Amino acid sequence: MNKEKVLLASSNQGKITEFLFYINYFKIFKDHEIVTLDNFPDIADPEEDKLTFTGNANSKSFYFYSKSNLTSLSDDSGFIIDGSENFPGVKTARYAKKYGGITGAIKKLFQEYNEKETIPITFHCSLSYKSHDREISATGSVKGNLINTSAGDNGFGYDPYFIPINNNKTFAEMETEQKLLHSHRFYAFQDLALKII
Ligand code: IMP
Repeated sequence: MNKEKVLLASSNQGKITEFLFYINYFKIFKDHEIVTLDNFPDIADPEEDKLTFTGNANSKSFYFYSKSNLTSLSDDSGFIIDGSENFPGVKTARYAKKYGGITGAIKKLFQEYNEKETIPITFHCSLSYKSHDREISATGSVKGNLINTSAGDNGFGYDPYFIPINNNKTFAEMETEQKLLHSHRFYAFQDLALKII
């Protein structure tokens, strides 16, 4: 019999690798066939125009569910500078784009924060699961500090500039599994695993 398919609806290959780790780690979707957007080259990117991570994650999973007719799992993530009004928040990726990439974004942030050595932030991840009869939202976050010089070359995005609390290594300096067990996405998948049973 054909297994039910679950679409991992993200075009970020770094995230897909992490999704696969967590699906295995938390033993979710055991009876499903996992597919990715590689199988759906014609589906255009969704809008990310909501004001919250959960709002964007939901619009992505609903969008991909409607386009593919498959159960879809999407996420939205980014960081918020502690004490700020949700900055850069849902605009984390756009902020990097505006300043020519992650290195440019870090340079700009430290200029704005008076060249302090570290900037305290919280990384957030919202996951959204949409099937024909269920909608589940799950969230996770991790506190830590941005640093102004990159360290390590594992991972993606801001990993070389982020040291989670109670650690002395950036995500990019950690062994892959160590990052995976400390990240905002870990806690969001833990929340999803509890809700999906
Ligand atoms: P989005 O969730 O694809 O919109 O990404 C939001 C932004 O946060 C992007 O610039 C990502 O590179 C960054 N980001 C999200 N999760 C991580 C992570 O685990 N490590 C480093 N950067 C991340």
